[in-house]
Amino acid sequence: MTEHFDVLVVGAGPAGLAAAHAAAGHGVRVGLLDAQPRQGGQIWRHDARHGAPQAATNAITALANTPMPITWLAQHQVIGADEERLLIETPQAAVELSFGSLVVATGARELLLPFPGWTLPGVTGAGGLQALAKQGWPVQGKRVVVAGSGPLLWATAATLRRHGAHVLGIHEQASAAAVRAFAMQLWRWPARAVQAVQLRALLHDVSYHCGSFVRRAHGDTAVTAVEVVNARGVSRIDCDLLAVGYGLVPNVELPGMLGCTLDRHGTHPAVQVDGQLRTSVANIYAAGESCGIAGLPAARIEGRLAGHMAAGATAAATPLLGQRRRARRFAELLDRHFALNPQLQQLAELDTIVCRCEDVTLGALAGYTDARAARLATRCGMGACQGRICGTALAELGRFPCSGNRPPIFPARLATLAGSAIPSFLSHDSGDNHA
Ligand SMILES: Cc1cc2nc3c(=O)[nH]c(=O)nc-3n(C[C@H](O)[C@H](O)[C@H](O)COP(=O)(O)OP(=O)(O)OC[C@H]3O[C@@H](n4cnc5c(N)ncnc54)[C@H](O)[C@@H]3O)c2cc1C
Repeated sequence: MTEHFDVLVVGAGPAGLAAAHAAAGHGVRVGLLDAQPRQGGQIWRHDARHGAPQAATNAITALANTPMPITWLAQHQVIGADEERLLIETPQAAVELSFGSLVVATGARELLLPFPGWTLPGVTGAGGLQALAKQGWPVQGKRVVVAGSGPLLWATAATLRRHGAHVLGIHEQASAAAVRAFAMQLWRWPARAVQAVQLRALLHDVSYHCGSFVRRAHGDTAVTAVEVVNARGVSRIDCDLLAVGYGLVPNVELPGMLGCTLDRHGTHPAVQVDGQLRTSVANIYAAGESCGIAGLPAARIEGRLAGHMAAGATAAATPLLGQRRRARRFAELLDRHFALNPQLQQLAELDTIVCRCEDVTLGALAGYTDARAARLATRCGMGACQGRICGTALAELGRFPCSGNRPPIFPARLATLAGSAIPSFLSHDSGDNHA
C-alpha cells in the first residue's frame, strides 16, 4: 500500500528539519525521511563521543512540538521516483510514498579529485574523515594532513583534533590573497565571522598553508606520506592519514529524476528554484545545498521557507524572502574566493584510477567524449556510487559535462526494483551524460 503525506520532506539535515517543522505548523500531515538512522544531515551528524551540537538538539526536539505530529522515517533511502511517488528502500523492505507536495532537501556531497595515490587506504575526503571520526573510527594519535579547499577544511581539522588526531597542517589550494579577501567580507555574515574566529583560535597551533595542494600520496598498503606543492616548490610530509576535499557539490539526482530543471551554469548542476523555492515541477520545492552551496544559515532559512510554501502558507513564507536572499549571497563569496586552481585538473595520470568502484583509469577513458559511451565500454560510473564520485570529478576535469539521473539513485535490491509499481522505473534513462 502507498502511504500518503500532504507534505513529504526528503532529507533530515538542517534544511529538511526546518521544512518539516514549518509545514507541520500549518496542521498538515508531514513525513520526514532520510537514508540515515538519525536526523541532522552532514553538519549535525551525531558524534558518538561528543553528542550533537545544541542547535541540532534544538532543531530535532522542536519537531515533537508541532500541532500535527511529524512522521519520522529513518533509514528510508529514495532510490527512484515519478511525479507522484517515491520508491524507497529500507533495510527490511521496499516502500512507496505519495505526496501532495514534496520538499527536496538532499544536501550536498564532497568533490573529490583524482591524483596519484588517492585510492590508497588512509586517503579520504575531508568531510568524509570528519564523519568517520564522529562515528567512532579511531583517529587518536594519527598524524593527519588536511587538504583541499574551503571552510570545511577548518571544521574537519577541529573535529579531528577533538578526537585526538595530530593535525599536521591545513593545505588550502586557494591563494593567500583570495582567502584574505574572503575573510575581509565575513563581517557581513556575523555568525560566520564568529565561527571562523572560534575555529582559528581552536587551531591556532595548526599551520595553514594557502596556494598549497597535494599532488601525490605515497605508500604501499596505506598512505605513509604526501607530496605538497606550493609557491616554494614541492615538499614531502610523512603522515598516517590524508583528508582531502575540494568543496561541495549539490545532490541533484532525485530532483533531476523528478523532472525538475537544473541550473547548469556552473560545472556542477544545482536545482533551479524561484524566490519562493518552487522548482519547475508543480508542488515540488527544494531547499538547502541541493539548490547550491551556501552553508548552514541559508539551509535553515530555505528549509523554513520551503516548508511554509509546501503547506500552502505563502503569507508565512513572505517574511523569509529577504533573509534568504541575504544568506544566499554567501554562496557567491565562496564561489569567488575558493575557485579551483586549474593545475588540480592535471594531477591525475593515465594510470590513475578515476572510477574507484570499477577500477577504471583515466587512460581507459581516452578517446571518449561522451559519458554514456565511456560508461558502456569501461563500466565507469556503474558501481556503488553510481557516478556520484567519478562523474563529478570528470566534470571538474572538463571531460564529461555532468552526472546523470538514471534510477536507481543508489544501489538497490533486485526485489525492490521488480516489485515497484512505478511504471517507468526500470526503463527510465534520461539520456544524460552520466559518467
Ligand atoms: C561530508 C560533509 C561534512 C560537512 N561538515 C560541515 C561542517 O562541519 N561544518 C559546516 O559548517 N558545514 C559542513 N558541511 C556543509 C553542511 O552540510 C551544509 O552547510 C548544510 O548543513 C546543508 O544542510 P542541508 O540540509 O541542505 O543538507 P545535508 O545536511 O547534507 O542533509 C541532506 C540529507 O539528505 C539525505 N539524503 C540525500 N539523498 C537522499 C535520498 N535519496 N534518500 C534519503 N535521504 C537522502 C542525506 O542522508 C542527508 O541527511 C558538510 C558537508 C558535507 C557534505
